[in-house]
Amino acid sequence: MSQQKGPAQPDPPKRFQDFFVLTSGAVAGLALVFLTGAIGLGEWAIGAVVMTAGALAFYVGSAPAPEKQGIAPVLETPPSPPTQRAEDSVEPFILALPLPALLISREGQIVTANKHARNLFRFEPSNLTFPVAVLRQPDLLDAAERVGRDGANERVEFTQHGDAEVWMAHVRPGPASGSVLMVFEDLTAVRRAERARADFLANASHELRTPLTAIGGFIETMRGPAKDDKEAWEGFLEIMSQQTERMKRLVADLLSLSRIEFSEHRAPKTQVEVGQLTRDTSQALIPIAEEAGITLHFESPDIAIHAIADDDEIAQVIQNLASNAIKYARTDGNVRIEVGIAATMADAATASSRQSPGAKRSLLLQPYASAGAPAVWVRVTDDGEGISESHLPRLGERFYRVDESRGGKLEGTGLGLAIVKHIMARHRGGLAVESREGHGTAFGIWMPRLKDDARSETV
Ligand code: ADP
Repeated sequence: MSQQKGPAQPDPPKRFQDFFVLTSGAVAGLALVFLTGAIGLGEWAIGAVVMTAGALAFYVGSAPAPEKQGIAPVLETPPSPPTQRAEDSVEPFILALPLPALLISREGQIVTANKHARNLFRFEPSNLTFPVAVLRQPDLLDAAERVGRDGANERVEFTQHGDAEVWMAHVRPGPASGSVLMVFEDLTAVRRAERARADFLANASHELRTPLTAIGGFIETMRGPAKDDKEAWEGFLEIMSQQTERMKRLVADLLSLSRIEFSEHRAPKTQVEVGQLTRDTSQALIPIAEEAGITLHFESPDIAIHAIADDDEIAQVIQNLASNAIKYARTDGNVRIEVGIAATMADAATASSRQSPGAKRSLLLQPYASAGAPAVWVRVTDDGEGISESHLPRLGERFYRVDESRGGKLEGTGLGLAIVKHIMARHRGGLAVESREGHGTAFGIWMPRLKDDARSETV
């Protein structure tokens, strides 16, 4: 450390020498003046005293200033920085993390928590410290205590907000001894997807096992008790053939669904004339409708309506909705398939519903496309039994059937509407159902169409 020096001061022997020379010189000088007779003895004595006093004053004045001891000059030593807490070093990272995170001190206080953590555990305000007990998760508190004590990392899965959410806490030692850092990962969507996959597999296996069990049962009967009853065989073979067809439909629907789910995030690229496509698909269903005694009506404006779409998939949507309508229409009833255009997607959502008095409506798929885009809609209406209000929102779930016995009798797979929903999602479109028990049902789909000017550019 450097010592700052003051002005130079004469050292003591030199100062005394100066005093002595000065005094004796002055006294001797006065003596010579006295000897010349210019001054008297009295004047010589006064002069000698004054000179000696002056030299003495010089001697005292030239003494060095006493050193100031114990108090360091302000500029000599720079101030030492305040001691930084180890917790402070991680605080900016905790606050910047996009995941909930918090730091617990050795004393069991939450000393830092970002806003995601405060939302997750619902504690406020942010600037106070809280005892760790506010986390109200016994497993988490136990893990925090062990990690603070032993310093080994732990992971704890827990549910939050009335089991609606599943979270994983990564618990690890914090920067200061005994402190604990927690970072939380939201597993809700992962667990939900795992559950849906497990349910789907269970349902699909069940649906395939039912016809297989029937076929297996008939084979056993034909080999055993009905071995020689060739007349009965005809009936058995007919049922086995129906069950085989059912299995084929189920496998085909499962394959369609998986293919559509796979491509759902890739937008279609081809230009399709939706009016013509709907007319062609409807006409192909006339024989099935006639067989069931149903009259099929088709209405479309006399203009070409273009959209960027996958024609096979849109044909499948029309086919699934129309064959359901034929299946569930009243005997000798009517099924109506209508196509229309609307200035906006929002208008198409309204236009695609029949808005019949007393009917209940449910939006099964909210479109991704902007509400202001020009749109095309298709509505399929039947005059069948209708669907009760409580079932409407669940239509489109895989394997969901309103009436199991009715669905089974009519040979449905419970996948048709799920396929429609996924195809419309890929086309950024919407799906809605409207029904009144005893009066019939209408399904509406809508999606963006090309504006006339955009169409002439791309044709
Ligand atoms: P399914 O192959 O069983 O018809 P869907 O997914 O197409 O499967 O339909 C699911 C269920 O919705 C059907 O089982 C039926 O209960 C009900 N449903 C669908 N369309 C109609 C309709 N037009 N009228 C009455 N109920 C319908």
